[in-house]
Amino acid sequence: MPSTHRAARTGPDACPTALQVHAAADGGLARVRIPGGLLSASQARVLARAARDLGDGHLDLTSRGNLQLRALPPGAETELADRLAEAGLLPSLTHERARNVVASPLSGLDGHGGADVRPLVDALDAALCAAPALAGLSGRFLFALDDGRGDVAALGADLCLLASAPDEFTLLLGGLDVGLRAHADAVTLMVAAAGAFLDERAAQGSAGWRLSEIDQGVVRVAARLGAVSAPVAPALDPPAPPVGVIAHPAAGVALAVIVPLGRISATQLDLLADAALAGAGELRFTPWRAIVVPGLPDATLLPGLAAAGLGVDADSPWYGITACAGRPGCAKSHADVRADATAVTLGPMPAARDAVPVHWVGCDRACGHPAGPHVRVLATPGGYQVGGVTVDVDLDRLAAAVAAARTSFASQETGA
Ligand code: SF4
Repeated sequence: MPSTHRAARTGPDACPTALQVHAAADGGLARVRIPGGLLSASQARVLARAARDLGDGHLDLTSRGNLQLRALPPGAETELADRLAEAGLLPSLTHERARNVVASPLSGLDGHGGADVRPLVDALDAALCAAPALAGLSGRFLFALDDGRGDVAALGADLCLLASAPDEFTLLLGGLDVGLRAHADAVTLMVAAAGAFLDERAAQGSAGWRLSEIDQGVVRVAARLGAVSAPVAPALDPPAPPVGVIAHPAAGVALAVIVPLGRISATQLDLLADAALAGAGELRFTPWRAIVVPGLPDATLLPGLAAAGLGVDADSPWYGITACAGRPGCAKSHADVRADATAVTLGPMPAARDAVPVHWVGCDRACGHPAGPHVRVLATPGGYQVGGVTVDVDLDRLAAAVAAARTSFASQETGA
């Protein structure tokens, strides 16, 4: 029986959207939903221009493959919404908060996975927006489309279609297999499951945002969908986040680049839009703060992307390093964690290629943390805590503590 955790939610969440901007310390923060992380080159240009004209010239990649603009002046959301709508990035005024969809970013590009889920992204987004009740989903409710490789199925989505064959999907509820299978009707089943969650939540009188936040959410939603099997965890072996050159005879060359600390400049995004036009005309934003440029004839653009400051292989010091906004953007932060993360990451103590990920946060809310195992570097009023050990803000000692925590973590994982 799955464990359930019921948080004491009292109403809808205040998750920012493109329309409802969060007032951060550095100005308005707008989150633009990018279902499946898929963006055309022209849409990327629109976002880069919006960041330049309306924000601080940068965009943040989120752990769900969405994008955020920061430092918006009061009222800029109206201009932003107009630009997004014109670019096809705001298909629904009512469902923007609910459009949280991650998809396997290399689906159809590298010969792995049991199905190409790329076409399902648009179908699911359209079906979500066409279901009036689903506007009631929380901004934390997550849909995942996994092509069978287990990458996004491991992200803890509320609902996940996991391909088991080119034309067969297992619907996972809260990460668990309850025996529900779908074929051409996969999107229909996903939408029905989201509706069943809302119905069950209403029946319980709950304000829970996620499946795990209502009483026996998996079992009861499964029952509403006619499932009779006991929930079991599927065997998943998620691959490492993609980076570098990915080549396949049927799909050409894809380049996957790391965006340092998930913050991309408008100039870098324009460069990637240029690169996309040399390929399939689209970019794929991953939940691991990387961007894939698919359908290229070769890898000749890679050095230019590296010269622009993007990480282009797994030896990049930025591989596996993430951070929240920190100070000055977030008033809750105890430190400028991005500056400290940069100083430590680019310092003289490089991490091993396969070291465990590190997430730097300015307070214990730990925004944007990775779904899997990682070392948390937590700013405190007096310094940092690294793996539970208190360290002052001396950067050499901090770097040594981070390196030790990664090594220790890796030893525990492998039993070494
Ligand atoms: S983790 Fe804390 S400091 Fe960082 S963005 Fe979230 S609330 Fe702000």
